[in-house]
Amino acid sequence: MLKGKTALVTGSTSGIGLGIAKALAAQGANVMLNGFGEVEAAKAEVAALCVAVGYHGADMSQPGEIAEMISACQSQFGALDILVNNAGIQYVAPVDEFPVERWDAIIAINLSSAFHTTRLALPGMKARGWGRIINVASVHGLVASANKSAYVAAKHGIIGLTKTTALETATTGVTANAICPGWVLTPLVQKQVDARAAAEGVSNEEAKRRLLAEKEPSLQFTTPEELGAMAVFMCSPAADNLRGAAINMDGGWVAQ
Ligand code: NAD
Repeated sequence: MLKGKTALVTGSTSGIGLGIAKALAAQGANVMLNGFGEVEAAKAEVAALCVAVGYHGADMSQPGEIAEMISACQSQFGALDILVNNAGIQYVAPVDEFPVERWDAIIAINLSSAFHTTRLALPGMKARGWGRIINVASVHGLVASANKSAYVAAKHGIIGLTKTTALETATTGVTANAICPGWVLTPLVQKQVDARAAAEGVSNEEAKRRLLAEKEPSLQFTTPEELGAMAVFMCSPAADNLRGAAINMDGGWVAQ
């Protein structure tokens, strides 16, 4: 379905980003990966799906590096058709104890980076008359949790950015939508499971169960594969008129 298209997925060396990159590649899209850590392993997993794979190591807190990544993608693949803004970090502390530099980093990586990639990718998408912007927000773009002020502010912000982008492109072939996952067992969440296991003196399995029981009625983690399938749907003709939506895949979290 996506043969000949190029997708750029930020923060795609692990977790949700890698899951979405693989799902788009399985539909034939060429993929440019981004993120830190296990770069070669991520490239190999996507290349195994028989598409062209690129990588750019832009730090998503740096607008200059983001601009270099967008032009590298356009010159390497000839276009940028599908932009998935996924890179994100977390930090947990009460608002009056929240380190200022952690606040700045979360706003830069989880929110401002999506503004920069979007503003730079849009002209090419509009010129070609087709494009997909998929923002990986969170249930925390819809509701809050204590001790996550920067993350919740950034995720509410990215849903606002999604809606504005969707309105500005509403009469074009470019769409912008957000996906709002509940708990997904990625390295980002494993850190919170580990912290809970240590704080409450329980096993890893029990910490996972308590984490889910608190917020997610299904008592199941959403998976990167399920989120990848949603991203593929958002790229399909059936989603041509899906604009400015924030779709929660959260085991019932925000239905409560
Ligand atoms: P993860 O830690 O597995 O992956 C994060 C990715 O972002 C990695 O590839 C990492 O290298 C990259 N990254 C981090 N800082 C970066 C930077 N400065 N520049 C470039 N890349 C950077 O986390 P994940 O759980 O897969 O999270 C992906 C997205 O999904 C995030 O936006 C997160 O907020 C969101 N999300 C996660 C969950 C969850 O439960 N895991 C739930 C809702 C939303």
